[in-house]
Amino acid sequence: MEQETIDRIYLDNAATTGMREEVLQEMLPFFREIYANPAAVYGFAGEAKRAVRLARERAGALIGAKPTEVFFTGSGTESDNWALRSVAEMRAEKGKHIVVSAIEHHAVLHTCKYLEKQGYEVTYLPVDAEGKVHPETLERAVRQDTVLVSVMAANNEIGTLEPLAELSRIAHERGALFHTDAVQAYGHVPLDVEKLEIDLLSASGHKLGGPKGVGILYCRENLRLPPLLHGGAQERGRRAGTLHVPGIVGFGKAAALAKETLQERMERESALRDHLIDSVLAKIPHSRLNGPRDDRLPGSAHFCFRDIEGESLLILLDQKGICGSTGSACASGDTEPSHVLLAIGLPREEARGSLRLTLSDENTMEEIDRTVEALAEIVERLRGMKTGR
Ligand SMILES: *Cc1c(COP(=O)(O)O)cnc(C)c1O
Repeated sequence: MEQETIDRIYLDNAATTGMREEVLQEMLPFFREIYANPAAVYGFAGEAKRAVRLARERAGALIGAKPTEVFFTGSGTESDNWALRSVAEMRAEKGKHIVVSAIEHHAVLHTCKYLEKQGYEVTYLPVDAEGKVHPETLERAVRQDTVLVSVMAANNEIGTLEPLAELSRIAHERGALFHTDAVQAYGHVPLDVEKLEIDLLSASGHKLGGPKGVGILYCRENLRLPPLLHGGAQERGRRAGTLHVPGIVGFGKAAALAKETLQERMERESALRDHLIDSVLAKIPHSRLNGPRDDRLPGSAHFCFRDIEGESLLILLDQKGICGSTGSACASGDTEPSHVLLAIGLPREEARGSLRLTLSDENTMEEIDRTVEALAEIVERLRGMKTGR
């Protein structure tokens, strides 16, 4: 096996995060020793049952939700699919209109495309040059037959934070439900489902130092959301399938750690991020920051470099042990520029030279300096090759 941990600088935390050691330790017994199905009646199942209960409490506590409002799923993608498809199905008699932002993750956008084929109508809200959804645009888009508004808490490519409280208020005034894909925000910025009046919220374990393959859907107490997966009576009949106990335990631990350390991580990450942004803009000519300067995820920075191909940049950065991304992991390899960059009004030409660098609290200032230095050199080299210097 390749061992290259020593010099690697990992700046792709929006794609996935490394699992925290404490999370792994708490999960381990549930793979082998405590393997009972938590649905079983014998005493042996008790420990698994209690562990799931604790995880549910922790997952909810991070966003001010009751444990009974938390449903474990197999991913953030599943949670998004579940929320959109089931609300559409449940409310079809009231109307068949859904409103989402144009910069949602594909887990939301492709579900909308599917629903359109089923006879639903979807409005894609435009965003401003920083990626923000303006409440007035939602106000104009919501109609009598709108059943659901879904706007992400934070954008996974450019890091923009959306004004959830205002958006949910508008949705509710018109009798629509409000869902937010909070996969990037959960555990990274404060979120309170009561204060923000959120009906449905998706989150994913592997974006906050937890395991891959486990997510949650928060679903407001009085909302009888029909299941996406049919089968056994797990999750109070709302999500069939034997519980992934180790994953759920890991999710819970990651949520508990995130809650405990939220403030200090936000401060640390935004200091690293600000240093990264300032250095890139100062040292690399014809570079621009995408998304707002301040009102963004603490660990997220996204740039465009003129006359550069994002893919070439990634390959050369990788040769120096630096892991970055052009934007969303799902878009890598695509030749089409990202839908997010087009939505903020970047010309196709400029959208090609994009680079997303997403930090964790485990990164250091020294790593940021080394990255900026490497980046400046690579950008200069690529531009030189292009003009034949
Ligand atoms: C990663 C991500 C998802 C998908 O979550 P998975 O658990 O990987 O399926 C959905 N939405 C956003 C905003 C994401 O960043």
